[in-house]
Order: sequence, then C-alpha cells, then structure tokens
Amino acid sequence: MKVTEHIAQANGKTLFSLEIIPPRKGENIQNIFDHLDSLMEFQPPFIDVTYHREEYIYKKHPNGLLEKKTTRKRPGTVGICAALKHRYDVDPVPHIICGGFTKEETENALIDLNFLGIDNVLVLRGDAIKSEPQFKPEPEGNNYAIDLLHQVQGMNNGQYLDGDMENANPTDFCIGVAGYPEKHFEAPSLNSDLKFLKQKVDAGAEYIVTQMFFDNQKFFEFEKKCRAMGINVPIIPGLKPLKTKSQLSVLPSFFKIDLPDDLVDAVEACKNNTEVQQVGIEWGIQQSKELKANGVPVLHYYSMGKSTSVQKIAKAIF
Ligand code: FAD
Repeated sequence: MKVTEHIAQANGKTLFSLEIIPPRKGENIQNIFDHLDSLMEFQPPFIDVTYHREEYIYKKHPNGLLEKKTTRKRPGTVGICAALKHRYDVDPVPHIICGGFTKEETENALIDLNFLGIDNVLVLRGDAIKSEPQFKPEPEGNNYAIDLLHQVQGMNNGQYLDGDMENANPTDFCIGVAGYPEKHFEAPSLNSDLKFLKQKVDAGAEYIVTQMFFDNQKFFEFEKKCRAMGINVPIIPGLKPLKTKSQLSVLPSFFKIDLPDDLVDAVEACKNNTEVQQVGIEWGIQQSKELKANGVPVLHYYSMGKSTSVQKIAKAIF
C-alpha cells in the first residue's frame, strides 16, 4: 500500500514510522530484525530504508602507484526491503538516489522493486562522495532529485528507457521527496530551496519527509511557507533522538541544522552519555507531543538501528 493511502486511512490519527540504515557489509539481517522486533508494537505502516552509494578508495601499490577502487560499506537496501515486507507485513520505502547511478541502473533497480511488490520510493539526489568537493552525477545519470522523480514518473506512465511503449507494464510507485525546514545546505536561501521543493511536488511527489530538526518552530514555519506557496501534500516530520555529547557538534556539521540553546545546555550538563540519552528521550517526547497536537500525519523517527530511545518515545506518544 502507498504511504499516502496509509495517511488517508488513518483519518487524521498520527501514525508512527521510522527509518533504518542497512548495517555495514559483513553483518547479518538479524541485527535489523532484533532492532525492529521491539518497535513493531507501535504498528508502523511503513519503514524507510536508506541507500548508501559506493565510495572510492585509493590502494597504494609497492611501486608507489595508487589504484582507484570502488567500495560499498552498506549494501542491501533492496534485499532488506523485501525481507521487511515479508517478515512484518509493512510497506518498506527504499530510498533511491541519483549519485553513483546511470539511468539504466536506476531503471533496473526500480524494475526489481516493482517485481518485489514495493509500492513506495523516496527519491533523493544523494551527497557528494568524500573525494569530491561537490556532488557530481554519473555521465548518464540523474542530476537532481527532480530528474530521478521524472524517471520514476515516466515508468509509472509506461515509459522505459528502451522506448518500447507497446510491451511496457507501467509501474505505480508512490513517490516521496526530502524537505529541509532549515534549508538544504547548498541552497542560497530557504525560499530558493522551497521553490525547488515545489517543483518536485508539481512534478508528482506525493509527500515530503523532512530532515531532522530539534526546534518545532522551524518545522511549523517551514510547513506554513510550504502551504502558502501551494504545496499541499502531506509533510512528515523527521525526528532523531539525541544520544551522545559528541552529537552537539557532529549533527550541525553533518546535517547543517541548529540545536536549540535549551537542548545544548541540558546535554552539556550531563555527566555521561547515559544521561544524554535520557535528555534526548525527554526532548523527543516533548517534540513529538507538540507535533502530534498540531496534527502531523506521521511521526517519523531516524532510529539508525538503535531501538531504545525510539521505543521509549513511542511508548509515551502512541
Ligand atoms: P535536490 O532536491 O536535488 O536538491 C539538492 C540541492 O539543489 C538543493 O540545494 C536544492 O535547493 C537545489 N536544487 C534542486 N533542484 C534544482 C534545480 N532544478 N536547479 C538548481 N538547483 C536545484 N542521502 C543518501 O545518500 N541516501 C539516503 O538514503 C538519504 N536519505 C535521506 C532522507 C531524508 C528524509 C533526507 C532529508 C535526506 C536524505 N539523504 C540521503 C540526503 C540527501 O541525499 C542530501 O541531503 C542531498 O544533498 C540532497 O538531496 P535532495 O533529494 O534533497 O536533492
């Protein structure tokens, strides 16, 4: 079932959902099951699975020459989605990205997802890899999320890359996109970023999932601006429970978000990360309560494969 159908069926009730990240290569899917088993009591109708593109590494040979090699740290998005669908009877939402893929490779992945009965995709551009100063698409790849969205929409209309419309079965993916309450870090202004978000919605995106934020006012202002410019699809807030002191600097530097002073003060006053985790849970409960009271369709938690904090927040909210 599509994410939008789950939201419509809930009839105004706020749903619980989460995002998981594939474990590093060599690990076992049981890690994911152990994590999710403890969260299924909150009945997530859908679960997002992130996608991680390959990186380049340089291997030094005895003669001093460097050999460029590709490596993927976290494989398995498609396989994990299939496993979740059949173990839990939930709708998995694979993330698909522009970076690292030609359009042919993207089409092949979408054919597999369609074959597996997966109804939703979150389309994203992806970030630059470590060895690149800025995002660079593959020569035959998609440049922006909207280009990838056009490709998925094309398949939904029976347009495959071989141009054979007569023998093509249209797919029927529900397409989600990302939104940034504190603006995407490359955008010159929030208004510019919102203009491109609106383009994605006008091109067929059916819902928006936001980057994490810790100050609900930022989300409410973002939502108000979206509505004012005619973005009328569901906007799903993404929430991350804080767990360690080091996240005070890691999260702003990695995700380009601000942390509210009250939260920073509370974390700085903690003696250890057990106390920080408790602060993160309490902050997450307050954020979730206020967002739910304001009628958000879904509370979407970035669980990163660790269930304790999300479980405690969900127990207080659902
Ligand atoms: P876009 O919508 O393409 O926007 C990228 C930038 O370009 C923005 O600054 C935008 O304002 C600008 N822009 C957009 N369209 C145009 C245009 N036509 N012309 C000029 N400028 C334009 N990354 C992963 O690698 N894997 C994941 O699984 C993943 N999951 C994510 C889930 C969520 C909910 C979020 C919020 C992010 C996720 N990311 C993931 C990170 C994401 O890939 C990065 O934030 C990336 O830098 C931007 O992706 P986007 O889809 O928002 O890009």
